[in-house]
Amino acid sequence: MEKEFTWDYAPAPEAKDHAKIKKQYDLFINGEWVKPSTKKYFNTINPATEEKISEVAEANEKDVDLAVKAARNAYEKTWKKMPAKERGKYIFRIARMIQERSRELAVIETLNGGKSIRESRDFDVPTAANHFFYYAGWADKLEYAFPNRNPKSLGVAAQIIPWNFPLLMAAWKIAPALATGNTVVLKPAEATPLTALKLAEIIQDCDLPPGVVNIITGFGKTGAAMVNHPDVNKIAFTGSTDVGKIIQKSIAGTNKKATLELGGKAANIIFEDAPINQAVEGIVNGIFFNQGHVCCAGSRLFVQESVAEEVIQKLKARMETLIVGDPMDKNTDIGAINSKEQLLKINEYLKIGADEGLEMFQTSCTLPSKGFFCKPTLFIGAAQSNRVVTEEIFGPVLTIQTFRTIEEVIEKANNIPYGLSAGVWTDKGSKIFNLTSKMRAGVVWANTYNKFDPTSPFGGYKESGFGREGGLHGLMPYLSF
Ligand code: NAP
Ligand code: MG
Repeated sequence: MEKEFTWDYAPAPEAKDHAKIKKQYDLFINGEWVKPSTKKYFNTINPATEEKISEVAEANEKDVDLAVKAARNAYEKTWKKMPAKERGKYIFRIARMIQERSRELAVIETLNGGKSIRESRDFDVPTAANHFFYYAGWADKLEYAFPNRNPKSLGVAAQIIPWNFPLLMAAWKIAPALATGNTVVLKPAEATPLTALKLAEIIQDCDLPPGVVNIITGFGKTGAAMVNHPDVNKIAFTGSTDVGKIIQKSIAGTNKKATLELGGKAANIIFEDAPINQAVEGIVNGIFFNQGHVCCAGSRLFVQESVAEEVIQKLKARMETLIVGDPMDKNTDIGAINSKEQLLKINEYLKIGADEGLEMFQTSCTLPSKGFFCKPTLFIGAAQSNRVVTEEIFGPVLTIQTFRTIEEVIEKANNIPYGLSAGVWTDKGSKIFNLTSKMRAGVVWANTYNKFDPTSPFGGYKESGFGREGGLHGLMPYLSF
């Protein structure tokens, strides 16, 4: 493959022979691998090569029922009664085993999801382990976390996750649920089931009591069956706003608790007094990290007019150095788009932006001939009325708007149905505090972007959902007081 600007990098592919992937996966229910009652399996592929990796079971309502029954049984008979200190040890053990198998997990994450191996290795897997470590510590300290409030577990949690951070989302969901004494039925996204199934193997190796964590695979219908199961106490969902709305409707009038982590369209705001070079790195990290498959991606750039030209020129130059291609290569910055479906959606938005008359910039890289890839793209001179500005693209596509005053940029940044995250770049602390207090966003990063830590809560405003994951806040949705 020819790469004009990166000719000096020799390929450095990560080995994959140590990753053990079965030819076929059943459902992980009650501590065992169980055949699906549908007898059906579906293929899971590598989006960078379009090759089949494995096939996984399709669970239907009957299988969901079996998994919920196993979770209920484990809750009543074992998990609820176990001293919290002992529960903490199991969670700690899971964390340790994720660390021990981190190389294998990173390789499988990249093979199945298309993200660069550097990201899986340096971000997804260690952050997943850190979530288990962090929540292991809380298990026997809930009385201290919520003094005089007598926190109690809820029961069975149904957890449904998307394809952009498969293992990490599973960790975000499972770790706090277990620490608070709940049991779990988790469904990964149809496109990226393999690391969750690997996690099931780890859970089995940790001797977690059968039924405490059940992992089942399937499509949207399987997720709906979990949501609608009468014996589920809590629903934790991360995914699109559309599905979030369906879930909220279907649980209306029930006693089920829910947290919804939905879409986003974050503003990344650069003031003229910002450290421009760092800001350019922040912009690149904000939107091109994980191919832009990030709900909190800094997908709307706002640059103060006086520095717009400089920022755009430096941004274009930096983008030209980004290596797009084989996600298994350790040099790669931007891997494969997660699925054909997602690539089609992104390409549709590229056309919409062009049709809206926006100036489009794409880097001169050559895309691999196989697999699903997209060039990092800018839409310059965008306005609030453009669809590429208001709708979530979930790809490596950045719109650029300019502004003159702080009031103007706050108004524009907030004028969107989403409110998950935002970024601000300035030398002035007072400006940061002024802006962060007025932004309707769950997370605001200042002079950095896409920083995550298990101790820090994450979640949205408005159509980005409700409830928080991470930190002390992340325990609350799994408890009653
Ligand atoms: P999605 O279509 O909403 O799917 C999310 C999960 O829900 C998948 O496991 C999916 O199964 C399942 N599902 C689909 N229909 C369902 C239904 N009717 N009832 C119950 N479950 C159902 O979202 P996606 O396309 O996978 O992910 C991208 C979206 O997630 C983006 O909008 C992004 O912003 C959002 N996201 C948000 C966060 C956050 O923390 N706020 C994090 C990551 C992603 P299938 O995969 O089988 O369809
Ligand atoms: Mg879907």
